[in-house]
Amino acid sequence: MRITEKAKNAALQTAIGQGLHYLEKDPETNIPKLMHLIDKLTPDDWYRAQRDAFRNVIESKSHWYDLILKVYDLDAGVRQTFFQNFIMNAALLGSATQEEVSEREDCNVPWAILLDPTSACNMHCIGCWAAEYGNRLNLTFDELDNIVTQGKALGTHMYIFTGGEPLVRKKDVIALCEKHSDCEFLSFTNGTLIDETFCQDMLRVKKLCTCHQSGGLCRS
Ligand code: SF4
Repeated sequence: MRITEKAKNAALQTAIGQGLHYLEKDPETNIPKLMHLIDKLTPDDWYRAQRDAFRNVIESKSHWYDLILKVYDLDAGVRQTFFQNFIMNAALLGSATQEEVSEREDCNVPWAILLDPTSACNMHCIGCWAAEYGNRLNLTFDELDNIVTQGKALGTHMYIFTGGEPLVRKKDVIALCEKHSDCEFLSFTNGTLIDETFCQDMLRVKKLCTCHQSGGLCRS
């Protein structure tokens, strides 16, 4: 009997849900054990490339592995949403859809999409293009929403905001997170517009991470 893609995904979602529950107790000890179990029980041709990538991270104990362990310092709801949206939707199910689309349409499909909600910035650092020119360009909420909607149809569930300063548009960034509950979002930021209300919004939507920009003036 041929197993459909839908049945395969449902089986994987259930197994990963149970696995993540098991990891909560002692992640450092249980992550390698769980990977071993997944390899043993999963047919060889199921998500092979993705499983190889995760196994390499675990075995090499690289900085990616440290990053995985740091996830256990997060709010439990944020962590569970991260696992669902980043690991299940973006890395596993999403990349399977990307492969299908890529083969069918003979094109590359990105695993993550970078987009600038605005070229504006609330700071005016000398020498930065965002402070000197082109700083009034904005994507409307509908345009941002359209990019994410089209991206999801291709299997892309990871969106990274750059700029300008993306948090100049923080209301629209949060609204996008509310609308696309199956995606993970990351915003680069100079950090100056993060306040208590925004932190509470991030905790509520659970699927937005921020990262301090590096490489420019705001970034020193
Ligand atoms: S360096 Fe960063 S904070 Fe400064 S104007 Fe440019 S984008 Fe804004």
